[in-house]
Amino acid sequence: MMRDLHFKPIVPLLLLLAFLGFWLLWKNPSHQELHATTRLAMGTLVSVSTWGATEAEDENGVNWVFSRIKEVESWASKQIPSSLVYKINHSPKGTLLEVPEELVTVVHTGLEIRNLSGGAFDPGLGYLVDLWGFGNGVAEEGKIPETQKIAAWLEERNKHHDFGIQWVKTANGGMAIQWGGFAYELDLGGIAKGYAMDLAMESLKLSGIPNALIVAGGDMIIAGSKGGKPWRIGIQHPRDHNKVMAFAEITGDMAMSTSGDYERFFMANGERQHHILDPKTGKPSRSGLISVSIQTSTSIKADALSTAVFVLGMKEGKALIEKLDGVEGMLVHENGERWKSPGFKGQWLEGS
Ligand code: ADP
Ligand code: MG
Repeated sequence: MMRDLHFKPIVPLLLLLAFLGFWLLWKNPSHQELHATTRLAMGTLVSVSTWGATEAEDENGVNWVFSRIKEVESWASKQIPSSLVYKINHSPKGTLLEVPEELVTVVHTGLEIRNLSGGAFDPGLGYLVDLWGFGNGVAEEGKIPETQKIAAWLEERNKHHDFGIQWVKTANGGMAIQWGGFAYELDLGGIAKGYAMDLAMESLKLSGIPNALIVAGGDMIIAGSKGGKPWRIGIQHPRDHNKVMAFAEITGDMAMSTSGDYERFFMANGERQHHILDPKTGKPSRSGLISVSIQTSTSIKADALSTAVFVLGMKEGKALIEKLDGVEGMLVHENGERWKSPGFKGQWLEGS
């Protein structure tokens, strides 16, 4: 009898304490292991997920991530009049402009991918991108540019065998660009986001966060794991926004970029006029590919290569992926044909 009286209230009390413990653990963010923050940057939603950091560590890391992204945007954007790329594009032909190392890195990498892809990727399509109205994100007018204007651009381009710009070493060991005119206006839209993602992940690691996933539109970069479990990612179906076409479970360092004709486009002449342009025709790429995902070690390369392979098409795109070490790809053709390289991390989703 006595025993019962003493024992009985203890059980609910223990349950209550256990519940309170769980509730506090769940309620108190410093004990949460997964943190996710989404903000608008680079014209898209950027989400940063970290695992295992305290609330304070996560906040510090995330703030650093967004300040580095803003920094890249501030010099690489073609639209911001105070940006360096804007200044370069709006200077008279032949102007010598001193540029910081980051710009040299991004333009050099862009030119490297340009060479590798036989010109399919080109960091100098600024004038053309504006002509099609994709300069400010969305082609609002939805109008095909005058044939003459495209022809004039192509003609000007064909006059030069090089890229049309010159690099000059400055007296203090820096670099300057000598600008080549309207046919070589910079547009780093197919590569700067990738570069910013690399810097973003570097910032997280330097701030003591080794496990993270950063997603910005079609680009993502991954490090470590989610508490010993892989990060799970999905690849959007190119013709159904609400559907996932493929998924992957990834642990460790990797960058992935997806380029598709569904991100920014308008319909005209019964065709999808989208934002990935073929420098050979001056028009939206008609390679037949509608989605290309590239996995490699850095986001800058993944970003530029996904655009390059998209323009190259199934046959040449495959060949480029197979030629490059440490580069894997997944390609989708409008005729239903699909291909992925043997080392590509991911599975097609059944019925997708
Ligand atoms: P997103 O910016 O939607 O992720 P991509 O990475 O595929 O898409 O890059 C497309 C952007 O790159 C375009 O909006 C344009 O600014 C630029 N661009 C378009 N065609 C090319 C090309 N052939 N080479 C390099 N950059 C390109
Ligand atoms: Mg790209």
